[in-house]
Amino acid sequence: MSQDRIALLSPRLANQIAAGEVVERPASVLKELLENALDAGATRIEVEVEQAGIKRLLVRDNGAGIEADDLPLALQRHATSKIRDLADLERVQSMGFRGEALASISSVSRLTLTSRRRDAEYAFAVQTEGRDMRVQLQPAAHPFGSSVEVCDLFFNTPARRKFLRTEKTEFDHLQEVLKRLALARFDVAFSLRHNGKSVLNLPPATEPSEGARRVSMLCGSQFLEQVLPIALERSGLKLSGWIGLPTFSRSQADLQYFYVNGRAVRDRLVAHAIRQAYRDVLYHGRHPVFVLFLELDAALVDVNVHPTKHEVRFRDSRLLHDFLFGGLHQALAEVRPQSTPAVAT
Ligand code: ADP
Ligand code: MG
Repeated sequence: MSQDRIALLSPRLANQIAAGEVVERPASVLKELLENALDAGATRIEVEVEQAGIKRLLVRDNGAGIEADDLPLALQRHATSKIRDLADLERVQSMGFRGEALASISSVSRLTLTSRRRDAEYAFAVQTEGRDMRVQLQPAAHPFGSSVEVCDLFFNTPARRKFLRTEKTEFDHLQEVLKRLALARFDVAFSLRHNGKSVLNLPPATEPSEGARRVSMLCGSQFLEQVLPIALERSGLKLSGWIGLPTFSRSQADLQYFYVNGRAVRDRLVAHAIRQAYRDVLYHGRHPVFVLFLELDAALVDVNVHPTKHEVRFRDSRLLHDFLFGGLHQALAEVRPQSTPAVAT
């Protein structure tokens, strides 16, 4: 076959290429589906998986639902209800906005999307088989809200399937994704079932005491006894959450959660500011523990840096660095030395 002529990729192949960036493993599918449920205003989200989501991964929500006529469109690339123009993009509050996740996931799995809006008499469903981008709309039974069922992930992309790890490892990743989102949204109930068994059940937390219970369930029962509560506000930047006492450090950076306007991010500048704040109080090679929520004007942060949106770009990074370092350093300086150092592993 001659390779020197130019041709447009088929929609399916274009989606499979895009899926390479977003859909790495069942946990990345779960992240996208949970974010969609949250964007739809769900207050209860149920997750059911088989074989760590490799065989089947279902996310059911009680959110706003999708108009029947829009269901096929939801699976198309660059189709979104969340932004309309550049101004929307610059102030985006929703977790999603690229209109790529469902198209990508459906191109590498057997996907069924079922949804019912509150004003609709019936639910409708669309199904795709990965190889075929055509979808048919069918009436279905479903309460208000949406379900996305993803079966046989990577069944048509064996090269990707080979990169999946053991069921245990993939399940650990799934739990981590759920944990990261559940820590940011105390107001939403989450549940997780694996191979027919209930693994996690988090009721919604509206009272502070219920919030503390959720943190204990997710970060360990000892967590709240070994952290400092943080509540800082300056120059339009607001920081809340908890940071570990210097005596409560880890050998790995595995208890570190940082949220920017509700979105979990990994950011070098943030990591550096926090590391600096701990520099004098932590042993070399130990990692601090933190669950921190930063809030700032959405226009001052660019979330459209990477398809997974784990990275962000701050307009005024100097200001942010000083705010984080200064605030946390001072909070740590005010701690009286503990008599019984406890070092978690
Ligand atoms: P994005 O989230 O970036 O808009 P997606 O591919 O994840 O792109 O979803 C496409 C569209 O499908 C969304 O914009 C939304 O309108 C709709 N959608 C997806 N999942 C849900 C859901 N659980 N509830 C309601 N609408 C949904
Ligand atoms: Mg989305």
